[in-house]
Amino acid sequence: MTVHSHINSLFNSMSYVFNGILIDPGDVWNGFNNVSIVLLTHAHFDHIYGLNELLMISPTAKVYTNVIGKEMLLNARKNLSAYHETPFVLEYPESVVIVNDRETVDLGNGLTAKVVFTPGHNSSCISWIIDNMVFSGDSLIPGVKTATNLPGGDKEESKRSEKLIRQLIINRDIFPGHQVLTRNL
Ligand SMILES: [Zn+2]
Repeated sequence: MTVHSHINSLFNSMSYVFNGILIDPGDVWNGFNNVSIVLLTHAHFDHIYGLNELLMISPTAKVYTNVIGKEMLLNARKNLSAYHETPFVLEYPESVVIVNDRETVDLGNGLTAKVVFTPGHNSSCISWIIDNMVFSGDSLIPGVKTATNLPGGDKEESKRSEKLIRQLIINRDIFPGHQVLTRNL
């Protein structure tokens, strides 16, 4: 399985694409027209801002997040886009599928995604386990201190989540939410 990584123009957030699955839509580029599943690591602006454009190109795509993530998608203040040039509010709320902690999502083609809630950076944070990969969003970025000072952040929760993710990546590869220059875990 080849995972295409894309460093987005906003805050160097990362998007990942493989098998019609997109993790965190930022800049929308060629090849997005066959996306059927969008998995959000969390609903901060820099990880969701391409979502309306993407759903215009791929109207049948489903967007997976938790209850808090959906609230943030529908509120520019909560997803922090209100403080940027282009406020973001999801125009296609019917595309959202709510997931619960430890749920398994069927991705088709024999692939599944395990949902692991990893709050601390934000309450909408989910780490997705797919095959031998963990998409950790901003809950654990190797070599970077996890930010917990934004609304919905919690230092203690973050420590617990980081510990959990470090367990998850013992035999798996980590795909974090921002560009990593070093791989020092
Ligand atoms: Zn974030």
